[in-house]
This record gives sequence, C-alpha cells and structure tokens, in this order.
Amino acid sequence: MILLLPLPDELDRSYMGRLIRLNGLRSEKGLVTLLAQWANVAEASRWEVCCLDLLCRAANMELSQFVRRHTTLPLRRSFTSYQPDLAHGSAESQSMLRLTGMRFARPGAYFCVDCVRLDLETYGMSYWRRDHQLLGVSICTKHLRPLRYVDKTEAFLDAPSSFVTNSHLVSEEWARLNQQHSGIQRFLAISRELLDRAKPFDVKVARLVLHEQAAARGWCTHGSKTSKPLLSDQVLANFPLDWLSTVFPLLADKKPGVTFNQMDGVLYLSTSASSVAPYILACSLLFKSADEALHALMTDFTKPRPRQKIKPIDAGDLRAAYILAKGQYALVLPELCDSRRSIQTGLESIGLPNLPGRGNQSHLIAVTAFFVHKKTLSESAALGGVELSTLEHLIRQGGNNLATALTEISAPPTGPGSGVLRVKPRTPIEAGATTGSIDEKSSWHSLCELEIGD
Ligand SMILES: [Zn+2]
Repeated sequence: MILLLPLPDELDRSYMGRLIRLNGLRSEKGLVTLLAQWANVAEASRWEVCCLDLLCRAANMELSQFVRRHTTLPLRRSFTSYQPDLAHGSAESQSMLRLTGMRFARPGAYFCVDCVRLDLETYGMSYWRRDHQLLGVSICTKHLRPLRYVDKTEAFLDAPSSFVTNSHLVSEEWARLNQQHSGIQRFLAISRELLDRAKPFDVKVARLVLHEQAAARGWCTHGSKTSKPLLSDQVLANFPLDWLSTVFPLLADKKPGVTFNQMDGVLYLSTSASSVAPYILACSLLFKSADEALHALMTDFTKPRPRQKIKPIDAGDLRAAYILAKGQYALVLPELCDSRRSIQTGLESIGLPNLPGRGNQSHLIAVTAFFVHKKTLSESAALGGVELSTLEHLIRQGGNNLATALTEISAPPTGPGSGVLRVKPRTPIEAGATTGSIDEKSSWHSLCELEIGD
C-alpha cells in the first residue's frame, strides 16, 4: 500500500483518486478493500467503518479533521434540524458520514488551469480543489481566472490535468458578472465561512435570526397568503436568474407573488429544506456582510431575551384602516401589524365589526341602510341580502361598549380590585357569637384561618 498525504484544500474524492492511481488499482471498491486490509479492519466490522474513516487513517488524520479540511460536508450540513449539536465528522456520526459524507456539492467537476499548471510544477501532479466545487463558484480566487469544468463527477478520480482540453470553460462575461455582484460575493463569503466551522447551525436558531431581519423590513414571515413582500421574490429580484439557476434551480422557476416554502420557509419552518442554498441566500440578502451574518447566527439564543413589549395599536389608525378597507377585516389585517389576532380584537373592542361582502350579500349595505339611512331592521337586512339574525349580530357588535356597560349594571363584577367587599371582617366577639362560643382564643384562631384561607 502506497500512502499519500492530502494536498492543501484537496477534495476527498481527489485524494481517493490519487490513492487508486498510485496503487495501480482500477476502482473505488478496490481501494476500500485494500485500505480496510491495511488498517486491519476485521471483515465482520467492515460495514461499520465508512470510506471517509479509511481515508483519514491513510492520511494519518483525525476523522473530524479530515472531514473539515477535505469534504464539502461542513457546507452541505451547515444548517440542519437533524442532530445540530453533533460536530462535523464526529465519531457518533459514522452512519451519516457513510450516507452523505462524500456527496457532491454541485454537479460537475471544476478546476482552474493555472492551479493545474502550478500543481504540476510544485507537486508533480494535479488535484481537484474543494473550493472550486462549492455552489456558485465560477472563478479561481487565487488566479482570478474562470474555471473549467467536466460534466461527469467520476472525473474526480482522474487528474484534472487530463481534462484541460476536453472540458467546458466558464465564460469571461459570466465570471466577471459573478465577481462584481455584491450579493453573489456575500453568498460565496458566507459559504466559505460555513465550510470552516466545526459544527452546523440549528435550523431553529437560523429561523429566529432570519425572521427578525425579515420582520424588520416588513416582509412576510409566515406561510399564509399576504400582501407583504415575500423573501423568495426579494431573492429573485436581487440575484441574476442564470446564476440562481445554478445554486437553487427550483427558485429560479418560481412564479412571483406565490409563497415558496423551500425558500420562504427558512423564516418559519423548524425543519430544514432539501438544501442549504436558501439559508445562505437569505443570509446574503438580509445581512451586509458575511461577518455580520455569522455574528448574528452565533448569538446565544438559549439565553432568555427581554420580552418585546407589544405596542398597542392606535384606535385612530385602526379606524382609518377600517374605513379604507370598507369594513373588510381581510383587507385591514396585513397592513397594520404582524398579529392578526390583536388587530381583530382591537377593531371589535371599538365596535367596528367585520363587514364581508360576497355575491348579492353585503353586510356593508345592510348596516349602512340601518344606521345611515334609518331604515328598519327588516328593510335593511333585505337591502343587504343578509339574514335578520346576521344584521342583529352586527348591530350588537357595533354596540359593544354599551353591551359591556349594560352587562356590568345587571351583574356587578366581584373579586380582587372590583371594590366589592367579599367578607366583612368580624371582631373576636362577633366571631364568638357566630360560632356560639365564648372562648376568645379559639374564636380568634378560627377567624385567622378563615382569613388565610380566603
Ligand atoms: Zn487557480
């Protein structure tokens, strides 16, 4: 067995390919068998040891160290709802590593011809760099040159030098656009920061952080129908569509104004979507820099935060919005604040009921006929095309304040703070007279018990 050290930023499969070629083997399977024999892994327990575990032994590295330096897993798993406390490449994550450890970050195998030339001069061989395989990367950061790529990912097992002439070149124009776009630059900077981390972010933490930012901009932060701007539409408006189709193709096909859970869900779902792209896109859009985004994500949300005071909605604003919406709650609700419930309660408390209209039915016409044109109850109900009982209900809602006052007149409230004394304190003698006892001590005692129990 000829062993090798992985080269700087070398992708796991590139290292595997070099081991295969140097040992005169033909396949991945052949290398795994040879490595398992070399590492003395017993046949019976071979299924428990993942390929990455064998590669890190060959590289004489800790598993977590190898995973963090040579796989794209820290980025692909950067936001997760599944065991977020588990560090990347930890010993407990063998089954996860076996399934997803060596997956590709994107289709195709990317390389830089200048890096290939330099590597041949420096190491006598070329290799695939991990950074070039990241989502959205189209240029080599060292040589500022557009990357070349091969469509098939099997290419990683061969040297990139064998594809210099038979590969596609990312166009200069495309690479320049990506280089100059501040949102794409933030996306890439955040991706590289995430790749460097030992642990993923819990989706629940990301949701809180992103939700706070989106709410501050007045964007929709839930999955219901809304007139507020959608995060998915904002991403579409702020990133080039061609580029988006390389990092999140489903989003590029989305219709404007339609909630798209795979993207908008980062603000309200507690389980992660199929990819980390929507989280990184949201961070790129909602924060000015990668530092700012990472700092916000690392805020300790386990510490109790001061409760935000709920700002009471001004009755004048509510009334104005109600008039503008012609009494239809559905048209008032999204405009004033995030809590539909508090707006509804606010309107009800000032005696402004919901006045929906459907087909020939108009609650607005019925109540206008009654209150403004002084028609009778039955005439007003007929004009609005509503049941008499519906109109009565609306009028009762309108007379909310009167109804509350009348309720209190007919049944005065009791209890603490109501001003009505529940038990008149007795003197010890009175207590004795009630119980029929003249023993002052026991009477006093029973009075105390009464008061404590009260
Ligand atoms: Zn390069």
